Amino acid sequence: MTNERRERATFAIWREEILRLTALLSLSLIIGLFTNFPLLCVGIAISIYAIWHLRQAFRLVAWFQSQGEDDVPEATGIWGEVFGNLYHHQQRNYRDKRELAAMIDEFQASTAALPDGVVVIDPTGRISWCNEAAKMLLGLHVPKDLGQRIVNLLRNPAFVDYFISGRYTDEVVINSPENADLILSVRIVPYGEGQRLLLARDISRLHQMERIRRDFVANASHELRTPLTVIRGYLDMMDEESLDARPLQPWQAPLSEMRQQATRMGRIIEDLLKLARIESAIGKSNHEIVDIPQMLKMTIDEAKALSEGRHRFTLDCEDGLLLYGLSAELQSVVANLIFNAVQYTPDGGEIRVRWWSDKKGAHFSVADSGIGIEPRHIPRLTERFYRADPGRSRATGGTGLGLAIVKHALEHHEAVLNIASEVNVGSTFSCIFPVSRIRAREAAA
Ligand code: ADP
Repeated sequence: MTNERRERATFAIWREEILRLTALLSLSLIIGLFTNFPLLCVGIAISIYAIWHLRQAFRLVAWFQSQGEDDVPEATGIWGEVFGNLYHHQQRNYRDKRELAAMIDEFQASTAALPDGVVVIDPTGRISWCNEAAKMLLGLHVPKDLGQRIVNLLRNPAFVDYFISGRYTDEVVINSPENADLILSVRIVPYGEGQRLLLARDISRLHQMERIRRDFVANASHELRTPLTVIRGYLDMMDEESLDARPLQPWQAPLSEMRQQATRMGRIIEDLLKLARIESAIGKSNHEIVDIPQMLKMTIDEAKALSEGRHRFTLDCEDGLLLYGLSAELQSVVANLIFNAVQYTPDGGEIRVRWWSDKKGAHFSVADSGIGIEPRHIPRLTERFYRADPGRSRATGGTGLGLAIVKHALEHHEAVLNIASEVNVGSTFSCIFPVSRIRAREAAA
């Protein structure tokens, strides 16, 4: 209804009410004049009018007290208008409620049909609602578990840490509490005011395929190792035979090339095996206190041998700074980064290795004044077999797996790798290990 029409309707109601009152008073006055009791008759008429209004007011209060359960009362005049409006409001409310309920039903039916588990968690961390898949994947029971704290029901330490950390950019992978063979990827999505949505996806198949891939690479590498050792043995013998004026002398160059390639193949197989070992070591708990300063000194000595005096090395090292971790994996990180610096730095270049700590954690960095890396390659360097400069990598005997090994090994130590580089100026590879992994030499002793 437009404003103008509404004003006209209100005016009509008031006019009708005033006419009614005027008619009542006039009638009572006429009767009063006939009966010689004009005041009494007018008084009686006003009282009847007031009683009628009071009665309607009582009916309104009674209706409010019934909380809308009783039907809206009916009346004429101004009260008829009041009750009429109330009736329309009530009908509109019923309709809105029905529509809302239908929408909620539809939403619940569609979420219930989702293959992924969905759990609505309130700001205090308690379960408000969950769908069918959540019951199956997470072993939730409705209505028993509604109102329970989610961390009391999903007690997996990785999930509990993830849930209370409040950092929900990534997801966490856990075994289903209902069926240990099910691997779930769980993600929390915050919404509204402190509410959270937990999404659980069954990734068992994906996990299984990943395991098959890993096992295949590991088995294939392992199987290739023995024949390659035999081939290399024969190549060594033949290479010797090709020296001087022996019968194989015309084959000297191809034989030497074959030996080099066989050695490279051997290195690739060893790196593939190492990567497979590191990948399948997820969650292994044989961590120990590792003497990183000593590891750095020994690796730099090896790097110096590789460099044959072509590079200058400096080491800045906090001697008392040790790290809680997996020694073999940390050795791979240190060796790969330092040897890469040697491989990709021209003669006369400088390689600076640092190991220090601050309030962010323990830092390990290798900076070189080498060929550098174009920015477009940097995000992909840790992919298996990705090379910024394939020709150079192969010429230096690189396997293309070093940084993939570094990345996986660092993941086991909750550490991150940062790469900063400028073409023809140099590169800095730095790793940050969390404070919780730092150990002091005196305390360790
Ligand atoms: P590779 O065995 O080929 O060295 P990595 O995985 O160790 O394999 O390194 C991947 C690629 O990253 C290398 O091929 C190279 O292009 C680049 N790279 C690694 N370290 C350096 C460095 N210190 N300076 C320049 N480029 C580097």
